[in-house]
Amino acid sequence: MNNKYDLIVVGAGPAGITAAIYAARNNQKVIVIENEELGSMLTSHKIDNYPGFVNGITGKELYNNMKQQAIRFNVTFKNEIFFDLEDFGNYKTVKTEKTRYDGHAVIIATGINKKSQKKYKGEEEFIGRGVSYCAACDGAFFSDAVVSVFGKGNETSEEVLMLSEIARKVYYFINDNKLEVEHEIMEKLENTSKIELVYNAQLDEIFGEQLVKKVVVNVNNVKTEYDVDGIFLYLGTKSNFELYSIFANVDDSGMIITDENMETITKGIYAAGDIRKKSVRQVTTAVSDGTIAAMSAIKYIINLKK
Ligand SMILES: Cc1cc2nc3c(=O)[nH]c(=O)nc-3n(C[C@H](O)[C@H](O)[C@H](O)COP(=O)(O)OP(=O)(O)OC[C@H]3O[C@@H](n4cnc5c(N)ncnc54)[C@H](O)[C@@H]3O)c2cc1C
Repeated sequence: MNNKYDLIVVGAGPAGITAAIYAARNNQKVIVIENEELGSMLTSHKIDNYPGFVNGITGKELYNNMKQQAIRFNVTFKNEIFFDLEDFGNYKTVKTEKTRYDGHAVIIATGINKKSQKKYKGEEEFIGRGVSYCAACDGAFFSDAVVSVFGKGNETSEEVLMLSEIARKVYYFINDNKLEVEHEIMEKLENTSKIELVYNAQLDEIFGEQLVKKVVVNVNNVKTEYDVDGIFLYLGTKSNFELYSIFANVDDSGMIITDENMETITKGIYAAGDIRKKSVRQVTTAVSDGTIAAMSAIKYIINLKK
């Protein structure tokens, strides 16, 4: 065996770290593989809906607190890029660009990278200052404001509807000449006066000073300026379909399908957090998944060692 552990957790977001804490407190030898550039929680500018922090907390602070807590229970962290996983029955091998780790059980908690794969001018500069990737997380900051949403599909459309209950006006920019969503959603979009659907629209550039002020959009190939306070981007949330589908069932977007114990179809391999197919992706739900995945993994490891 390579570097040997009871449990290998891939991902140091709230799902992965929670799982690591539970397993380590159960005396399992745990390693967490992370790539600090990729976590959603790390990019959260302010988290106001995770209980226990009266004035909210930044994603980075929450990450540091969780990590220090896990280190207190002797969890090892490695900043390496995970790229492959092999199942050998009683042990699994996790490969990173630097080394290989063997573990009896593996929890995949790699999240989804919500930043758009193509970077737009102004996107990086205004993250947390008007640019967001999550209406459920940041929508409340845009009460009575004018916001824009870029994307398409059921999930994005649900976010548009959610924002229309908070904001004064919502522009929904669709990079197509039609919107393919469920009939009921389409009806709501068309009958909500605050929502304006703009078809054949591609994001060009984001402008502002301290905060976002304006977005330039190519509408039918004509550059058009819109005054907005917020920009919600849903332009790239692909996960690693090819890799995960070897050991798990995955849906069309590459999300891992588990049962209620966070188990995949491969014994000893679990998934937790945003990478799972589920309806609500938040820190609270990630922490819950991590807890359940760890409990399942502990049971599996103990049985294996009997
Ligand atoms: C801008 C923004 C604001 C948000 N605001 C809120 C909020 O206010 N409240 C709230 O509850 N939720 C918020 N969310 C959602 C929340 O951050 C996620 O639901 C939560 O972080 C999911 O946790 P996770 O552990 O599944 O994944 P993540 O937090 O995304 O962590 C994934 C981990 O996997 C690692 N990883 C990924 N790929 C690899 C790889 N190939 N190799 C090694 N490591 C890898 C990353 O390094 C990271 O450690 C926000 C999200 C975003 C993007």
